[in-house]
Amino acid sequence: MAADDQARLDRRLLMLPATPKDGATARDVLWRAGIETELCDSVRGVGEEMRRGAAAVLLPEEAIDLSSRLLSLVIGQQPPWSDLPVLVLTRPGADSADARLAVSALGNVTLLERPVRVATLVSTVRTALRARERQYQIRRQLAELRDADQRKDEFLATLGHELRNPLSPLITSLELLKMSGPADPGIARAVGVMQRQVSHLVRLVDDLLEVSRITRGLIEVQREPVNLGEVLAAAVETSRPVIEASEHRLTVSLPDEPMIVLGDGVRLTQVFANLLNNASKYTDPGGSIELELAHTEHTAFVSVRDNGIGIDREHLSSVFEMFTQVSRSDRRTQGGLGIGLTLVRSLVALHGGSVTAFSEGSGRGSTFEVRLPLAVVEATRPHAANGHKGFTGRRMLVVDDNQDATETLQTLLESLGATVAAACNGREALAQFERFAPEVVLLDIGMPGMDGCEVARRIRALPAGRRTPLIAVTGWGQQEDIRRCFEAGFDHHLVKPLDVDRLWEIIVGASPTTH
Ligand code: ADP
Repeated sequence: MAADDQARLDRRLLMLPATPKDGATARDVLWRAGIETELCDSVRGVGEEMRRGAAAVLLPEEAIDLSSRLLSLVIGQQPPWSDLPVLVLTRPGADSADARLAVSALGNVTLLERPVRVATLVSTVRTALRARERQYQIRRQLAELRDADQRKDEFLATLGHELRNPLSPLITSLELLKMSGPADPGIARAVGVMQRQVSHLVRLVDDLLEVSRITRGLIEVQREPVNLGEVLAAAVETSRPVIEASEHRLTVSLPDEPMIVLGDGVRLTQVFANLLNNASKYTDPGGSIELELAHTEHTAFVSVRDNGIGIDREHLSSVFEMFTQVSRSDRRTQGGLGIGLTLVRSLVALHGGSVTAFSEGSGRGSTFEVRLPLAVVEATRPHAANGHKGFTGRRMLVVDDNQDATETLQTLLESLGATVAAACNGREALAQFERFAPEVVLLDIGMPGMDGCEVARRIRALPAGRRTPLIAVTGWGQQEDIRRCFEAGFDHHLVKPLDVDRLWEIIVGASPTTH
């Protein structure tokens, strides 16, 4: 479709009139005010037109009574920049329960009590269209950012390749120089210096290429059973020279039994070696580093703790962003490009895990905690389809902005023995989390205001929320959405409609005490 045609669709007001006569009158009035109105004859029609493009929607309250589920579904599928204004013509006495339901289910709603004065209708629609125009601006800016981001990724890839080309003959020539026999001690020293510096350059270029491959989705990780304990031992070996050079005290604490995850041993070793190197790089000589592997039924937690320079609160969440270095003037940052933690986060997310940074602040040490799903051992897994044993005694928090979805899921889980609390937006979810202290949280992602990923991040930042299993229950099943969920700290991603057997497997199934 031509851009002009799309722009015209994007400017329309969609109206579902109570009667055809109402529709014709309103369309004339609005047309005189320069507003183009598209009349629809059913809620389904509104939904279809909304998908093609709309600036706002005008509906009578009765339509929402009948079809709130369909409408909230369409509204819930908006992209993140979009918050479509919905104007609802209410029956006289706007404070009805139905009107309240409309507000909670449809997000950006303005109620207009009937009968509406023409001037009020026109000015309310104009305000809605202006608000929508601002959203389109954000959409344009996001598209520009995405383009710029893509150009940056392509540039990094080219840069990496171009830098690598001159490096290989340099390395080979240095090897030749070294092999050419006993030289003047001064030259031998110079060759040594060059070799060390060139291998540092090679490491930087490798990191650059790696991160550009990851951001362009070109890295696949193997998924085979690996013992995390062995991975950690290999990471310690890789980092040992750095740790010993700074005389850091390293304590390692691992469980006796093997902790199996499905993943890529080489990549995971890279993750933990990176965290250990950082712990050493950002801790004064003589400091201490602790590496610990703990686990719950389904999740392994690896923490790398140091008593080094720490990270202030404002930088905690950004350290994982590409090229972030907390203090560029710090001599310690000179050894890297600020992409090690970006690599760590991406590699962990490719394993279905997440990583979080904790620090009490500057000078008070840092902890990086990696969470990885443990492999379910097939032999101990019951055939859930043959009937699971319910959720007796489990405290669960269900969060969804669609009230019907929340209520049905709550009823279902309660009928299976769970104690359930519900919340219908992010703020309420956080309050319930603190008040109700759930063992598991089922979180919708697409919610107006604070979305599920933000809620997950905030729960993870709470002391009580570091290890609570978080399950995303969403309509979004794209690879990118799943990756976003894991990055936000979710342990699992389930698509709607919820498969209760699968949920049972996740929450109860692998626990040896329950079957
Ligand atoms: P680099 O170490 O190359 O700068 P990273 O992506 O590994 O890049 O880390 C990003 C930034 O996060 C670092 O520059 C540093 O400011 C901070 N950081 C990482 N690990 C630690 C740590 N253990 N203690 C304090 N700060 C850290």
